[in-house]
Amino acid sequence: MIDLHTHTTASDGTDQPAELVTNAVAAGLRTLGITDHDTTRGWDDAIAAVSALDTPFSLIRGTEFSCVYHNADGRRIPLHLLGYLFDPEAEPLRSERAALRQSRLGRGEAIVTNLAQAGFPITWQRVMELADGGSVGRPHIGRALVEAGVVADVDAAFAELLSSSSPYYVRKQDMPAVDAVRLIRQAGGVPVIAHPWARRRGRIVDENALATLVEAGMLGIEIDHIDHAAADRVRLRELAAELGVFGTGSSDYHGTNKLVRLGTETTSPESLERLVAAGKGIPPVHSPVR
Ligand code: AMP
Ligand code: FE
Ligand code: FE
Ligand code: ZN
Repeated sequence: MIDLHTHTTASDGTDQPAELVTNAVAAGLRTLGITDHDTTRGWDDAIAAVSALDTPFSLIRGTEFSCVYHNADGRRIPLHLLGYLFDPEAEPLRSERAALRQSRLGRGEAIVTNLAQAGFPITWQRVMELADGGSVGRPHIGRALVEAGVVADVDAAFAELLSSSSPYYVRKQDMPAVDAVRLIRQAGGVPVIAHPWARRRGRIVDENALATLVEAGMLGIEIDHIDHAAADRVRLRELAAELGVFGTGSSDYHGTNKLVRLGTETTSPESLERLVAAGKGIPPVHSPVR
């Protein structure tokens, strides 16, 4: 099984990178993508864990970039772009990641301030502790709200207080998606749009936007994702074929911050082959046993 989109404590997941690898093996995965938000921080620990395995296993290093797409009518649509196998040293992508992480700080603090002023007993200091040096995001604020007894779980925190339509919400400075596609390619990487039609998260990009991103160099579309309806998956599969890009499927696992399990959605060997063939920045990492 191949699962190409997962998170660790390097961003808003709850497994340490080495734990993620252990859990992936236990879940029956043979290929794992590690794709924390706006960072490569988890990669080295994941590599060390893979190097110590005594079963066949491959790691695809990646990052989920926070992006924004501006529609023809000027509407602003946040989107997530997965970049795989890019060179982590390549500039300017490296400093763009740093800027994205930096923007998460001020914005996270602003959301916490809004919530605290409304009487919810949480602090930015506690949220930072929960993030523990990883890319800070709303799930960390959600955990602080759970700890404070405000909500039962992170999912309820999103439903009631953290969604983009909440009065406490503040947006971050995201990267224009077309630029991100170009910079990932320039760094030898493989850009794949993450959950493009996750409608419950808010506004989504249309088919023209997907075509524009492919024109800019995007190489794949995440089709099988828990937030995608069956009919949308059918249409995305057709679109991927029309646009000549590959489709992926992934769990978007976040440990206990979300309910989804590793390997819930998977990618075909054919798509993985296309992804790996297009990756020029860094290679997959294999366990010593093949
Ligand atoms: P942020 O990156 O700070 O804008 O927060 C968005 C992140 O929150 C996404 O990457 C998801 O991982 C996570 N998220 C979105 N909806 C939920 C939910 N209902 N429960 C838990 N996590 C969620
Ligand atoms: Fe996340
Ligand atoms: Fe995402
Ligand atoms: Zn994700």
